[in-house]
Amino acid sequence: MSAFIDARTVPEGTVLTPDLVIIGGGPAGISIALALANTNLKVVLLESGGMSFEAPTQDLYNGKKEGVTYLGLQASRMRFLGGGTNIWGGWSRPMDPIEFEERAWMPHSGWPFGLEAIKPYYPRAQVLCEAGEWLYEKAENWSQSEMPTLTLGEGGVANRWFEFSRMRGSVLPTHFGERYAEDLKKVRNLTTYLHANVTRLGLASNGAKIDEIDVATLTGRHFKVKPKAAVLATGAIETARLMLASNDVNKAGVGNENDVVGRYFADHPIPRDIATMVLFDGKLAPYYLNPQEMHGAILRTGLFPSEKYRRSAGRLDSSITVETPTKLDDLGKAAVAQTAKALGVESSHAMAFTLGGGCEVTPDPDCRITLDTARDPLGMPRIKLSMKLSDSDLNHFRETLKELGRQLLVSRVGMVRLNMKERSQWLNGIDWGNHHMGTARAHVDPKKGVVDADLKVHGIANLFLAGSSVYTTYGAVNPTLSIVAMALRLADHLKGKLK
Ligand SMILES: Cc1cc2nc3c(=O)[nH]c(=O)nc-3n(C[C@H](O)[C@H](O)[C@H](O)COP(=O)(O)OP(=O)(O)OC[C@H]3O[C@@H](n4cnc5c(N)ncnc54)[C@H](O)[C@@H]3O)c2cc1C
Repeated sequence: MSAFIDARTVPEGTVLTPDLVIIGGGPAGISIALALANTNLKVVLLESGGMSFEAPTQDLYNGKKEGVTYLGLQASRMRFLGGGTNIWGGWSRPMDPIEFEERAWMPHSGWPFGLEAIKPYYPRAQVLCEAGEWLYEKAENWSQSEMPTLTLGEGGVANRWFEFSRMRGSVLPTHFGERYAEDLKKVRNLTTYLHANVTRLGLASNGAKIDEIDVATLTGRHFKVKPKAAVLATGAIETARLMLASNDVNKAGVGNENDVVGRYFADHPIPRDIATMVLFDGKLAPYYLNPQEMHGAILRTGLFPSEKYRRSAGRLDSSITVETPTKLDDLGKAAVAQTAKALGVESSHAMAFTLGGGCEVTPDPDCRITLDTARDPLGMPRIKLSMKLSDSDLNHFRETLKELGRQLLVSRVGMVRLNMKERSQWLNGIDWGNHHMGTARAHVDPKKGVVDADLKVHGIANLFLAGSSVYTTYGAVNPTLSIVAMALRLADHLKGKLK
């Protein structure tokens, strides 16, 4: 059992020489550290924060924003062990095969690997996320008598299921730091340093490998790590910041010869109260509105565009969720009565519900992170985020909602009314997923991406990335389950490479 080391007690000028250094103790970094337990590799995990929130450390995440109104750069991530899972919602669902493909209607699409590469790692990721039984595909085939779902006429939208992470026996959901601290301490080949901020990735003079990594504490200590290999798992914004700011050997930064680092930043917009769904008989199973514990998991139903529909209509992904029961105005009531009459169905018990959900966005190189002139107390440049959101991306969600409405009419079950037409109306009601993605995207071509199929930075022999910084395209589902699956795959790769 090795206790965590407080980096503030490490003697100035210390040089650590592990086989592997993992930078960042969020779900990605923790999953890799646990997966390499009891191998012959000497592993060091460097985490900026401690075991709980500390304002001066969190302030290192501060920066500037411009463009579309976006989340606070401090509020949308957490800088202590466990990272974003200290405040996440636990929504989980695997990605679909289509996300990885090059699609004609999706500029810049095409990952260097397919879903098959990470599929074997999902069951272990599900266990680490404590998301219960793996039921996603099985749930799609449950019969109406087992689990009644909305009857939708033939078309593009289908019922699909989310599962939720939970901390065993207590509150939702699993906070990776708190949950896995004792497990990390038991790993004999791992040493974890808290309050250890990486401030520079030092390239060798030929730029082909990482030679040394600078670590600093807020109390003024400095030490170095000279590893055989390094994994950067600091979240998509901080990963770009570290790569861009480490510009002493290459002026453009680490892995940025082709000016891709920091570009293609994305999150999932979540328009609220975007539409109203009316069900003529007023009946909706509770798992549409709130997560329910059943079948060995915590489940909630959403409505997703099918892969077939996405392909045939060239449609972006989205996840429609039923939010809350709502009241219709007189005009709305009249429209429901008229529609039900035309369909020959009874509507005296009709109920209305607001719809919301998450949207996929098109990769945009100008939605990006750059370095600001302001510096943080460790001397690192702060970041500037230029956030964008296109009307055409939001229109895809509108079209999918229309398709859902059409299918409800075909099945004579209900109808959908769109509430927002103008961009300003959409933007006023928009929330975001806190899913930072895409600043160091994966692509076979170094001109179009930062990492290759092994998540190794192009042109640098020993630097790997974990986390959703590597997302090439974004789908619409919450990323953490897939982040953990990809981290476990990377751990397997490193086991083979470094042994
Ligand atoms: C409010 C909220 C709700 C969310 N809900 C969901 C959800 O329901 N489902 C879902 O799938 N996802 C959700 N997410 C997103 C989820 O939290 C992230 O996908 C996940 O945490 C990313 O994991 P990561 O390990 O890649 O990065 P992070 O969790 O960001 O971890 C990065 C770690 O690196 C450390 N670090 C940063 N810089 C340095 C440095 N310079 N040196 C050393 N260490 C450093 C940080 O302290 C942190 O511990 C939510 C996020 C938020 C904020």
